[in-house]
Order: sequence, then structure tokens, then C-alpha cells
Amino acid sequence: MISVDEARERILACFAPLTPRRTPLLDALGLVLAEPIIARESIPPFTNSAMDGYAVRASDTRGACPDRPAELRVIGEAPAGTPSPRWFIDEAIPLRIESGMAIRIMTGAVLPPGADAVVRFEDTDESDTPSTSRSRGVVRVRREITTGENVRHAGEDILAGSIVFEPGTVLGPAHLGLLASLGYSWVLVHPRPRIAILATGDEVVPIDWPLEPGQIRNSNSTVLAALVHQTGGIPKLVGIAADREEDVARHLQYTHDADLILTSGGVSQGDYDRIKEFLRARGRFEIWQVRIKPGKPMAFGFVADTPVLALPGNPVAAVVAFLQFARPAILRLLGRADLEPIRVRARLTKPVENRGRRRHFVRALLHRRSGELWVTPVPQQGSGILSSLVHGNCLAVIPEEWSEAPVGSEVTVELYDPSIAAAIFAAES
Ligand code: AMP
Ligand code: MG
Repeated sequence: MISVDEARERILACFAPLTPRRTPLLDALGLVLAEPIIARESIPPFTNSAMDGYAVRASDTRGACPDRPAELRVIGEAPAGTPSPRWFIDEAIPLRIESGMAIRIMTGAVLPPGADAVVRFEDTDESDTPSTSRSRGVVRVRREITTGENVRHAGEDILAGSIVFEPGTVLGPAHLGLLASLGYSWVLVHPRPRIAILATGDEVVPIDWPLEPGQIRNSNSTVLAALVHQTGGIPKLVGIAADREEDVARHLQYTHDADLILTSGGVSQGDYDRIKEFLRARGRFEIWQVRIKPGKPMAFGFVADTPVLALPGNPVAAVVAFLQFARPAILRLLGRADLEPIRVRARLTKPVENRGRRRHFVRALLHRRSGELWVTPVPQQGSGILSSLVHGNCLAVIPEEWSEAPVGSEVTVELYDPSIAAAIFAAES
């Protein structure tokens, strides 16, 4: 038997980020960038107005107040989407704001030459006498405006030539938005790994079958596929193999395009644990048993050139083994640098036994009381009790060296869902 850490290390040594592929922008959500992004243009690309109002020279509004507004002559308008302002009246006036002039301007429009600030409509007589300033050719400004007010400068978000993202960046919605505004419709990212999922067992039947005596439905493939999906991989269900070597071989024919094969069941000491026979006969396998609870029987190796992680059949053991071994492997294939779950320290509210010198992953509920973190094991810890994972929100880790963990002892707690972590840290319970 080897330790959890050694098993992890040996498994992870066999995985590297998948070869990057140029990918449509929207398909890159959640994926890891494999190229540096250098801005080809500035954002915003031109200096423009942040408000609907009037482009002015700030110095013309000096001392302006409601009783003594600054009166400016409106010489034209600047709608968004045009390179330069349009005349209202006298086309002989040069197209730039000189002292005493204003140009009606809309949000996002290019700031006209000569202007250095924008007065919001709300700070003019616009609202008292709508549209009259336009016909009168005059606007009254009721406030002193500072230089640069309501102006968005070219490159204030991103400067042309600067490094926007380094390789390794995980792309979220806002990252995609920046790439879009820079004109990238495709990006180079590590693709999503394809993960084949095979269930095994003579007693295991598809989930939409009626149960005959002695049969159970295949819940493992559903849970594993959901976990693969949540981790960022593409699950591919390849069915249920009977406890016969040929049947395992037959099903694994459909996994040739997989980056990793996950099987469940058939690796323990039972008479019919044929995945094990199959792997011994046709694969290169090195890991057989791990000091983990729930779990222990597990295998890792290769069939042809595809890595295979043979998980235990018991539903909770399969999930725990997935989280410890398959999850970091999938994250590494995705090019992610951080392979770890969120870890915190918390005190046990109940004692936990841990015979057999295995690292015990206890399904538990993490909560906060008077600012302190506490963790309560869920009542049923059997490796077949899938509902324990629904009632818990974390795994409390009891080290292999401890034969028991008394009430109040501090343990490491692993959280696999950032939203659960956020909720715990936001709320007292
Ligand atoms: P095994 O490792 O094959 O001995 O299976 C251990 C336990 O897990 C047995 O009770 C199996 O019936 C159960 N089991 C195996 N595969 C599945 C599956 N795909 N879905 C639900 N339970 C399973
Ligand atoms: Mg079985």
C-alpha cells in the first residue's frame, strides 16, 4: 500500500497540459490561455465622453453657479459613432472648440478638438428648457467643471502594446470581454480533456431500467460525469461492462480518443473483480492499493497509451478517489497551475475513529460559530452512503497517523465548491 501523497505524485507525473488549440472566443470560457495577449490597440481607442451633455473648455465654466451660469454658444453636435462633430449653424467657424463655445455630445462620442471636459445635461439649463438651447444656440452651465471631468481618455483601460494577459490565465467572462474589445475572436487555449467513464459489475444496470432482484442502477457514471464536467473536462459514458475480461475489453474499444479513462468497480478482492484481471493482463499498472478511506482498492496505469484510473465501486469511495486523484489530473490536462481544493482548518464537533493507518476523508458539514470554524461529520460514513455527500459540504481530513480524532481537535478541511466556501465565510450559523 502507498500513501495518498505518493499515489497523487505518481499519477500526476503522468499528466501534462494538452497541446494548445486555437479556439472560438466563447468556447474558451473557463479554459487556460496558452499565449501572451499583447494589446494591438488601446481601450478605449479614442478619447470620448462618459456622459450625455456638452463638450466644453473647463476654464470657461470657472465660477459658474445656478445664479450666475456660464453661457456658451453651441456650435454643433457630436453623436457616438462619427469620427468628428457636425455643425449646427455656421459652417465657417473652424471645427474646434474655442473659448465660449460648446458642442452637444453623446456618451461614447469622440471628444471634439479643443474640448477638455464634458458637462452633464443635468448641470445645464437643458432640463428646464429642453431642446431650446439647441435652437437658441446657447447653453447655460450651472457648475464649475474641472479639466478632464466626464472624459474617458484613450488607453485609460488598456494601452496599445501592453501585456494584457500572461499565458496561464484562466479565462472568465470579463477576460473574454477584454479579448473581444481588442478584436480577438479566437484564442490559443489548452482544450478540454475528454474523459471516458466505464462502469463495471454484473449487478449494475442502466439508470432507466427496471430493477430485477439483485440489481442496482449505475449511479457512479452519472456522479463521475458530473464531477468531470464540473472540473472542466468532457465526460463520455462508455456503458457498463459485465464482470468478464472480454466485456471490459469490448467497452474500452470506445475510449481511443480519451485523454483519461475512469472505471468504477472491479478492483477490490472479490472473486469477480475482473477489471483488475484485465488491467493485469493487458495494461501497465503500478498502483494497486492506497492508504485512503473510504477507497483503498484502486489502480492506476495505462492501456495502450491512455492513462486509466480504476476507481473503487462503492459510490462514496469513487467520489473521494476522484477528488484526490482524477480531479488534479484533469486540472493539469487543462493547463491549470493550481490543482488544490480550498483548504481551511476547523475543529471537530464530534470524535472520529480512524483505524488502519489510512487517511480518512470524512464527509462533514463546515460551519462558523462566533467567528470560529467548526466541522461536524455527517452521521453515516459508510462508503456506500451517497447521501452523506449531499448532506455534507466538505471533506474533513483525519491524518493516517491518528487512530482517533477527539472532539475539539483541529483538522484540515477540503472544500471543492467555491460558492460553499464563500457562503460559509459570509454567514454566521
Ligand atoms: P466492487 O468494487 O465492484 O466490488 O463494488 C463495490 C460496491 O459498489 C458494490 O456494492 C457494487 O454494487 C457497488 N457499485 C459498483 N459499481 C457501481 C455503480 N456503477 N453504481 C453504483 N454502485 C456501484
Ligand atoms: Mg463489482
